[in-house]
Amino acid sequence: MQTPYYLIDKSRLLPNMEKIAWLRAESGAKCLLALKCFATWSVFDFMSEYMDGSTSSSLYEVRLGREKFPGETHAYSVAYADHEIAEVLAHSDKIIFNSIGQLKKFAPQSAGHIRGLRVNPGVSTSEFDLADPARPFSRLGEHDPDEIDAIADQITGLMFHNNCENDSFDRFDEMLTLIEDRFGKVIHKMDWISLGGGIHFTGADYPLDRFAARLKGFAERYGVQVYLEPGEAAISGAATLEVTVLDTMHNGKNLAIVDSSIEAHLLDLLIYREPAKITPNTGDHAWMVCGKSCLAGDIFGEFRFDAPLKAGDRLSFQDTAGYTMVKKNWFNGVKMPSIAIRELDGSTRLVRDFDYDDFAAALS
Ligand SMILES: *Cc1c(COP(=O)(O)O)cnc(C)c1O
Repeated sequence: MQTPYYLIDKSRLLPNMEKIAWLRAESGAKCLLALKCFATWSVFDFMSEYMDGSTSSSLYEVRLGREKFPGETHAYSVAYADHEIAEVLAHSDKIIFNSIGQLKKFAPQSAGHIRGLRVNPGVSTSEFDLADPARPFSRLGEHDPDEIDAIADQITGLMFHNNCENDSFDRFDEMLTLIEDRFGKVIHKMDWISLGGGIHFTGADYPLDRFAARLKGFAERYGVQVYLEPGEAAISGAATLEVTVLDTMHNGKNLAIVDSSIEAHLLDLLIYREPAKITPNTGDHAWMVCGKSCLAGDIFGEFRFDAPLKAGDRLSFQDTAGYTMVKKNWFNGVKMPSIAIRELDGSTRLVRDFDYDDFAAALS
């Protein structure tokens, strides 16, 4: 198979899926895949055996969820346009509005639909304000308990999404308690509560049993169906980006140029200023691995290898599923990585290739 390509390995996806399935059974919570994190639909059938459905952040995502991910389909968007709403409703089982203004605006069209509202509890775990839903002046959800209470009869559920890469159960627990203290009265009036994504409960040391007990207790206390919307937790570690070294140079450091680009193919890392991951990253030879776009800072990172790199060497960047494949782009006209899937029996199949026609078709 020709590089570059993203390789989704079902044997790496499976442990996450099994944890999700265990959590659902133990806690009663339903788990919906957040498509904004991962929308490679060729593995949706597989994932749907372990999850309840999908949730979305736009019309196109909700439609993809409806068409490709069996189960429940939740619609959410920061704002819907007038011309989108009919189609959003047609493709969803529930619609979650971001503001009371949008709820009121689309009240007539959505009257027969299950409706919810996003609440911004004003606390979060994000370390980057770029991704902090509780940042000052945040537009992400309503924050005033009295204003939310005043429209409570028009909705049956609330969505809180304030965790972000949170791998601490204690921190999750603390924040849920804050939410209960502040919004408990209105939560009592609801049938369902989504606690959003950003909870890294599939991580190696996460106390899944305590998490399940907390969710179950919450559901019983308020008489609600709990939903979780994992993105990253569902697909963490499930894919790699496979590349080949094209050239080497030396300019104070050893440089290897590969047939990919961090700007075009791993953009989320560049935005958050994180290096790509190569394992085991040991050995006597230090190399800076660089992209083939002409962006000066198109650098994947500095890694260690057992031998000097040379043209033709194959490298594998780890953990490239979440927020990565959804952001690939045509910058510099660099060939977009194909998509391959490794089945549980070890066989690998190509599910998508991109060529010049795709590049040309992306603009006009
Ligand atoms: C981003 C997002 C998610 C998924 O978050 P992860 O960190 O990938 O788990 C879930 N729900 C909402 C509303 C989101 O915005």
